[in-house]
Amino acid sequence: RPRVLSGVQPTGALHLGNWLGAIRNWVDLQDSHETFFCVVDLHAITVPHDPKRLAEDTLSTAALYLACGIDPQRATVFVQSQVSAHSELCWLLNCVTPLNWLERMIQFKEKALKQGDNVSVGLLDYPVLMAADILLYDADRVPVGEDQKQHLELARDIAQQRINARYGPNPEHPILKVPEPLILKEGARVMSLTDGSAKMSKSDPNEGSRITLLDPPELITRKIKRAKTDPVMGLEFGNPERPEADNLLGLYALLSGVGRERAAAECASMGWGGFKPLLAEATVEALRPVQQRYAELRSDPAGLEAVLRDGRERAASVAEATLQRVRSALGFLGKN
Ligand code: ATP
Ligand code: MG
Repeated sequence: RPRVLSGVQPTGALHLGNWLGAIRNWVDLQDSHETFFCVVDLHAITVPHDPKRLAEDTLSTAALYLACGIDPQRATVFVQSQVSAHSELCWLLNCVTPLNWLERMIQFKEKALKQGDNVSVGLLDYPVLMAADILLYDADRVPVGEDQKQHLELARDIAQQRINARYGPNPEHPILKVPEPLILKEGARVMSLTDGSAKMSKSDPNEGSRITLLDPPELITRKIKRAKTDPVMGLEFGNPERPEADNLLGLYALLSGVGRERAAAECASMGWGGFKPLLAEATVEALRPVQQRYAELRSDPAGLEAVLRDGRERAASVAEATLQRVRSALGFLGKN
């Protein structure tokens, strides 16, 4: 079975973009693929972080994976920092990756802009660590939202041009497998509630810009009520002058389950005042079962811990073997 790897950073509560653009698709892949889902906590410290929150955010992210339908019997669920091969391979890849490949990454430029003089080397290096995450598991496919497309391209280039082409004696047996992106159109780019041209993000300081998977119903309703609109009557897809209408109608189509065609027909002549309560209700209903399962999972800390311990062991055995291949291709002295 083809292998899949993906992850989310524990930088705060997961939002509708993480769910609709990533995790929701992971659930379907579990049957047809061998799946690895990690909580990428080493990525979370590439921007200023609060050490008092990291462990809790890591656990809550893992619990949300399970609450959204990831089944630890079929999928390997683990925490990135607990498998040391990620940091080790990252260093090896760092030393073959041209600096200018990283300097042109859009996410780096966007996140760096917000931080002024405080940008860390880690933020620049983020895509190399992500390449290590993926390449360690010989992943065939990587399900991500549109925002990670460029990083995946970089991982492919590092594997192909910088490791396999340079250090692989036999092109029939490449050292690293070159992964393919898996980007599903619907939900791949959920936009902010306060700005239809910016993506919904955990790191947006304005909490009103996103709906998290753990927001209680009243808060969801309030955030949608305050979401940015325009003076035009009727909801529609694809009008470049109306990014908010496109985004919110898209959310309604997915969360209510009616689909884009019926959603467009249903809301074509509806005013914002009629539409917003409809969207709020669809969102609350879609999240209800996720929140219920989440509460159950968090009431059994030992159970969650056992899932992560087991996942860590399975992940480490695969990752160590790949790391060993790279160490040996680069000419390092063996460990035993
Ligand atoms: P941060 O702001 O800290 O970078 P984030 O909201 O971008 O957080 P990530 O942990 O970086 O979330 O991304 C996790 C996954 O969610 C990735 O696969 C990413 O492509 C996807 N994703 C993130 N934001 C969106 C979005 N707005 N729409 C669709 N998918 C998204
Ligand atoms: Mg991100």
